[in-house]
Amino acid sequence: MNKKIFIMHNTCMKRIIFYSILIFIFSCFIGFFYSRIWKTNNDELSKQMNNVNELNIVTETFSNEEKISFNSTFAIKKYYDECGHVEVNYSELPTELINLSKTEVEQLYSDWNVEEFSSNNVILSQEEDSICNEHYVVKLSDNNVDIYHLEQDGEEKLYKTTNVIKEYLTQEDINNLENGIYVYGKENINSVIEDFE
Ligand SMILES: [Zn+2]
Repeated sequence: MNKKIFIMHNTCMKRIIFYSILIFIFSCFIGFFYSRIWKTNNDELSKQMNNVNELNIVTETFSNEEKISFNSTFAIKKYYDECGHVEVNYSELPTELINLSKTEVEQLYSDWNVEEFSSNNVILSQEEDSICNEHYVVKLSDNNVDIYHLEQDGEEKLYKTTNVIKEYLTQEDINNLENGIYVYGKENINSVIEDFE
């Protein structure tokens, strides 16, 4: 009798141990399975987060690109290769430029160099294979002194006649004027003329 109880007890214990091991293995399996799912989801999530971050960086770069504002100053700059002078002309901002980025301006004005670019200042420049517009020659015509403008093609075009007449000039002045006195800048013409008056 005692022995039978002991045997039954022993069988019971074996079963308990067997089931415990089974539950343990099963738990391990469940644990492993869930950790895999969790890891996969996490990888997926971090990938998505990375994509969102990249998108944000791209959007930020795009929106940070400087654009021309409506009250920006605008100038055209010309480099004249033949005389070496530089001419800068400020004018009203063309409305087609408002809100454009530097790249867009370069595409629109492909013949020009975008020399300066910010939201409030734009300068476009270009090289000219000629002299600038500020060259004049003071010369003696038949009886009086005239002023000629030097055209970009090298031609001399009558710009102004003066009241300075030949008979009051010294021989040296006459010689100089026959060769022509070159003047740069409209504002400097008068001082040259005054020397003969
Ligand atoms: Zn010049």
